[in-house]
Amino acid sequence: MSKFLSENLINMKPYKPGEQPRSNEQWIKLNTNESPFPPSANVEKLIRSYDAEKLRLYPDPSCDSLITKLSEEFDVDKCQVMLGNGSDEILAFSFMGLCNNGVAFSDLSYGFYPVFSDVFNKKAKIVELNQSFEIDINDYEGLKQTIVIANPNAPTGLELSQKDIVKLLENDKERLVIIDEAYVDFGAESSVKLVKKYDNLLVIGTFSKSRNLAGARIGYAIANEEIISDLNAIKFSFNPYNLNRLSIDIGTTAMNDKEYFESCIKQIKLNREYLTKKLKDFGFEVLESKANFIFVKNSNIIGKEYYKRLKEKGILVRYFDLPRTKEYVRITIGNIKECDALLKMTKEVLSEV
Ligand code: PMP
Repeated sequence: MSKFLSENLINMKPYKPGEQPRSNEQWIKLNTNESPFPPSANVEKLIRSYDAEKLRLYPDPSCDSLITKLSEEFDVDKCQVMLGNGSDEILAFSFMGLCNNGVAFSDLSYGFYPVFSDVFNKKAKIVELNQSFEIDINDYEGLKQTIVIANPNAPTGLELSQKDIVKLLENDKERLVIIDEAYVDFGAESSVKLVKKYDNLLVIGTFSKSRNLAGARIGYAIANEEIISDLNAIKFSFNPYNLNRLSIDIGTTAMNDKEYFESCIKQIKLNREYLTKKLKDFGFEVLESKANFIFVKNSNIIGKEYYKRLKEKGILVRYFDLPRTKEYVRITIGNIKECDALLKMTKEVLSEV
């Protein structure tokens, strides 16, 4: 630590991303919920023919082309959409500026929530998931804090019903509910349609998972005009050009290829079903995932050991060293070859313990 670090940041506990091996290392990488499929072929075409000269100029700070595309896709007004450098940035803006009464989120959810609440000095109310790792919305009754829910949740993959989300929104209309839909396209129901009715709802999404563009860093927020205007004011007080020129074009191009988007999702769902069934045959317990990952445990091997042994065999999965998740690992759904490699190595690991 340098002598210059601000006092309020001395106890900062930065987010630890899953391992990102160098590209020259050969791993089967099933640890950070990226897509196993490349971006749309149109994105590749765009990059290959990109006029580098354009990079001399700043990008459009309003990101109009991509905002227009998203507003059409979600059937909302353009003033109801904003973009971030990944959804992490939008979450950061939201924690920074939209959590006046603190923030409430569950004990097992996206690891960035406690980091943001710490770094922006927002008091966090941690609400425990029930025994089955589900959210019980009664636990949020009467809370004044901004509620943040990943739906489907990570790392469990479990979905919270729209009925429950409506109850949360109705419960206190002065309280903001943020629904983080990073994984929604893999089978859960989106809350975007509720934005028209509820001005206390902010939905956050990303191109990193279902649109195969984690490297392009594109996230979006959809809410009523006032919330979006606040988020834009924060963005313009922080980094007006938060999306680079290439990413704006890439995102717009990717959205134009709906057929490819849908085919990738279909394949992930099939592979999820396949992997789930096979792992259950091996004696695993697999939570019912609506995401592009599964959360699994096997009574013959604890999570850390399974993670470690898979790593020795060249496969990266994610292990969370927390009391409630000790027995589990989270496995990203890969392509069929990757799923088969995981199954083969799992069989070996189980025969060794
Ligand atoms: N929300 C959740 C629940 C996530 O798992 C992630 C990915 N780590 C994000 C948001 C952030 O995604 P990105 O910044 O790549 O859009």
